[in-house]
Amino acid sequence: MAKSHRKLSEDEQNRIVAKMLKEQKERQGGYREQALKLFPWVCARCMREFEGKNVRELTVHHIDHNHDNNPADGSNWELLCLYCHDHEHTRSIQEDRADVSHSSPEEELLSHSPFAALADRFGKKPENQ
Ligand SMILES: [Zn+2]
Ligand SMILES: [Zn+2]
Repeated sequence: MAKSHRKLSEDEQNRIVAKMLKEQKERQGGYREQALKLFPWVCARCMREFEGKNVRELTVHHIDHNHDNNPADGSNWELLCLYCHDHEHTRSIQEDRADVSHSSPEEELLSHSPFAALADRFGKKPENQ
């Protein structure tokens, strides 16, 4: 009784993972090459120009941050140098955080605290007394 015959062997798993990684790499390599053909080798932020070996520092940024969205016309791509690319992503993380802070845990705590409820009660003047 081969109990494991429905499971993938470790070998098969490794092969599948390797295949996925290879495809991912090919896909990424594909759009980078396309973008480099499509756009001048200039960082869209700091306008630094690239040539030859330097071009390794020029990366493809996905404007909608979706790496699977690769239209052939390059409308979702932007060439950014490593530094500006890094900055671009840090900035968007900070923007995300700013959004979250609209309902900060402190605010939540305060509005749910018994003290806030007490203050509310004492703050109101009884109308009939
Ligand atoms: Zn740059
Ligand atoms: Zn990016």
